[in-house]
Amino acid sequence: MHKKLFIPGPVEVHADILNAMASPMIGHRMKEYAELHGRVTSGLKELLFTNERVFLATSSAFGVMEGAVRNLVGTRCANFCNGAFSDKWHDVTLRCGKQADAIRFDWGKPVTPEAVEEVLSSGKYDSMTMIHNETSTGVMSPLPEIAEVMRKFPDVMFIVDTVSSMSALKIPVDELGIDSCIFGVQKAFALPPGLAVFTASEKALKRAASVEGRGYYFDFIEFAANDAKNNTPSTPCISLIYALDCQLRRMFAEGLENRWGRHNDLAGYVRGWLTDRGFESFPAPEYRSQTLTCSRNSRAVDLSNLKKSLGEAGFAFDDGYGKIKGETFRIAHMGDMTRADLDELFTAIITILPELA
Ligand SMILES: *Cc1c(COP(=O)(O)O)cnc(C)c1O
Repeated sequence: MHKKLFIPGPVEVHADILNAMASPMIGHRMKEYAELHGRVTSGLKELLFTNERVFLATSSAFGVMEGAVRNLVGTRCANFCNGAFSDKWHDVTLRCGKQADAIRFDWGKPVTPEAVEEVLSSGKYDSMTMIHNETSTGVMSPLPEIAEVMRKFPDVMFIVDTVSSMSALKIPVDELGIDSCIFGVQKAFALPPGLAVFTASEKALKRAASVEGRGYYFDFIEFAANDAKNNTPSTPCISLIYALDCQLRRMFAEGLENRWGRHNDLAGYVRGWLTDRGFESFPAPEYRSQTLTCSRNSRAVDLSNLKKSLGEAGFAFDDGYGKIKGETFRIAHMGDMTRADLDELFTAIITILPELA
């Protein structure tokens, strides 16, 4: 039996997309691929509000997160860490042999513009990484305010992971001055995993050209050269690019404003359902994510048992990530989800735990 996914990634994939992936194969050096690549990258530029370069990488998000560090960190990187994925990014930066410091915030707290300003004012850093939406804790950091601070540091590469937020709300990449914006497609894009998208500003490409040890697979300069011919350095995951082509069409058919509005509505719906039942938010209310809700286990539910029972009823449920497993649980509300999907989950929860009715 398929368990319907309410975990924060991968998420449920619409049947139209699964069908698109079954299209016959083409060669990536054929003109049919160049057409597909050109169409998809144009659509992405519109969605991301960017006129800079947009690249397609065949990997999970961490492939490009590592690649960005290898390409853009020259002297020293400030890794802003407020959860499991940002902690890991610091670890990845060190493993790439880069000089880097972790600037840590308690789990459940956002990255703040004040901290960014203070840390970068030291003049020690030529690059910074941060995660817009920390999926492990359900915290969305104030990206526009941080971007405002970043204007004071034009020589510091602004590298942002939007893995679990891109497309769910407006993230205007150029206006925010992001040098490299990175995301995988298995979260808010609701595609199967294996494809990552990233942008590179002119400044980022200039920096990359001066940095040694970029490797090959994620070399931004190789991506730029190939993209100029609507191509990729090595064979891309063509079936997933068919899926992305289909999903971009679906997103523009829904309308971006409607898509953002739907995510906002779903977030409010889940928060309300939980609040009505006495569950408290793990993050401070003003920093709650638009795409998943991370709740404290305020009703002392046996979460591993709930997860097991929901699994038997056909629902995949998340009982917390890393060190806050059991203490918190997460409900995803991203991608193609609707209120009706959430109602199915809520009904199943109440059937298992009638005291939450
Ligand atoms: C899921 C996730 C990642 C990791 O993505 P992979 O595709 O598994 O490499 C990184 N950052 C955030 C914010 C995520 O939610």
